[in-house]
Amino acid sequence: MTFRMEAEIVEASKEVLARSLEFVPIPILISESLLGSSSPSRRFHRYLNQAFIEQIGYTLQQMPNMEAWYRLAYPDPDYRRQVERDWSQAVREALAQGRNLAEMTAQVCCANGERRWFIVTAQLKADLLPGWNIVTFRDVHDLKCMMDANERLSRTDFLTGLDNRREATRHLDAAWLRWELGGEPFSILLCDLDHFKQVNDVYGHASGDQALISVAGVLRQACPRAKLSRWGGEEFLVLLTGGDVEMTDVIAQRACDRVRRKGFVWEGQPLPLTMSVGYATIRPEQTLTSLLQCADAALYLAKERGRNQALAG
Ligand code: GH3
Ligand code: MG
Ligand code: MG
Repeated sequence: MTFRMEAEIVEASKEVLARSLEFVPIPILISESLLGSSSPSRRFHRYLNQAFIEQIGYTLQQMPNMEAWYRLAYPDPDYRRQVERDWSQAVREALAQGRNLAEMTAQVCCANGERRWFIVTAQLKADLLPGWNIVTFRDVHDLKCMMDANERLSRTDFLTGLDNRREATRHLDAAWLRWELGGEPFSILLCDLDHFKQVNDVYGHASGDQALISVAGVLRQACPRAKLSRWGGEEFLVLLTGGDVEMTDVIAQRACDRVRRKGFVWEGQPLPLTMSVGYATIRPEQTLTSLLQCADAALYLAKERGRNQALAG
């Protein structure tokens, strides 16, 4: 076979491939790298199928090469760098495992400005048409958003929007590890609303809910850098790290004072509300459990001594 005949066969194969992909309902992009170059500016785009134009929206004129695609699809430079890193990692992993497909999930900015999540998959070595790479884009936007929302829900307290106990435990474990490995101290504040049962009994459960939401807002303002969580029914846990640790007593007192000063408003009526706090800073001989017990004992004492106060454990 002459060189010319061979070239004609290759061209015909490309045509057949492009036509076959035209009606596949998944966005597909074919790129060609020249002289085995892996540089994004030397990886030229040869073909986009109908689904690519419909779902992602760019044309070959707008994105003649991979560099142009990266700029359009990932306009934020930091995110673009992250995608480039993720992709290199995906390629390295695929090659190490002897796979010919690399894959990553990325948020693509489509031509209409919408940002959607896609699983991007590319063939690493094209045997039949050397230099050609088929890239597919599977739209997983709705699924990814649902998973993210579920993940958020699983760590958030529904009523107050603070972290729930599960998430608080994760933060405590992480703080504990930083203390064990790096000697970074941390403190906890166990906060419990005073005579809260009476609020429910006198004004109804809805008023109690409103009070809990209000206290969460007060704590956010009183401890702006802390990790705040709803530890139980009317109990909150505050985790202090970094420079806040030295100010544990000031912050605990401030939280207590602000809850008392704000009280809460129910049906236009200002009502009194106070909170007791037991706090403790991690010490060398302690475990996480004994730290929590220490703060809990201080809270118990604060209740015994008349409530509406913060005591150190
Ligand atoms: P103390 O000062 O000793 O802490 O008294 P207390 O009444 O606050 O303590 P107790 O543990 O007896 O009561 C806690 C109350 O908190 C009982 C419960 O009905 C209420 N509570 C817990 N979770 C919620 C909630 O999500 N909404 C409302 N409205 N009330 C709640
Ligand atoms: Mg309680
Ligand atoms: Mg209480």
